[in-house]
Amino acid sequence: MLSPALVAEVRRLLAEGRLSQRRIAAVTGVSRTTVSNIARGRRPDYAPRHQGDELDLACGPLGRCPGCGGRVFLPCRLCHVRAVAARGKKQSGAE
Ligand SMILES: [Zn+2]
Repeated sequence: MLSPALVAEVRRLLAEGRLSQRRIAAVTGVSRTTVSNIARGRRPDYAPRHQGDELDLACGPLGRCPGCGGRVFLPCRLCHVRAVAARGKKQSGAE
């Protein structure tokens, strides 16, 4: 992983246009592949890791679940999972 400062230096040298990518790689100590990637607009220092908000589980109010009686964030995920599992059992048992 490259530091943003190093990437910025590579970009600056690329923008100057006086050094070849090979020379820039030698001067900055990064690989020619990385210099080439930076020249093409890729950012090896900032790998895209943006993910959705699906892991934001504790979203509901904390309360007493009417299904299992537990103190949970409603709607109760445990009861939801149990309901899905029970439904699956019924379906497979009918065949
Ligand atoms: Zn429950």
